[in-house]
Amino acid sequence: MTNVIYRLNCNDCDKSYIGQTKRHLRIRVNEHKNDVKKHESMHSVVSTHRLNNNHEFDFSSPMVLHNEKYYKKRDISEMFFIKKYKNNINLQKDTERLPDVYNGIIDLT
Ligand SMILES: [Zn+2]
Repeated sequence: MTNVIYRLNCNDCDKSYIGQTKRHLRIRVNEHKNDVKKHESMHSVVSTHRLNNNHEFDFSSPMVLHNEKYYKKRDISEMFFIKKYKNNINLQKDTERLPDVYNGIIDLT
C-alpha cells in the first residue's frame, strides 16, 4: 500500500492518529512504532501518547482511509480526516491549512 491516508488506533482508549504517506504504509507505521526509541525531545505525538498514558497502538492493522497519489490532494485529505475524526491526537496546527470551504461538508461525509 502506497499513497494513503491512514488511521492508527490506540488499543487502550478511543484515540487515534491520522497520517499520510506516499511510501509503503508498513514502513511508515514501523517508523511510528520505533519513534519511541528516539530522545524524548524528538518524540512524535504517537510516542507521547504511548508513554504518557502507558497505552499501545494497533500497529499491526492501520486503517486505510483513502488512497491518493497526488501530494496536494493527499495533504488536503489528511487534514479533512483529522477534522472529521475528532477523537485524534493530531495537533490542531496540522489542519490550519485546510481551506474553509471543506468545513461545511465534513459532517456530511
Ligand atoms: Zn490511548
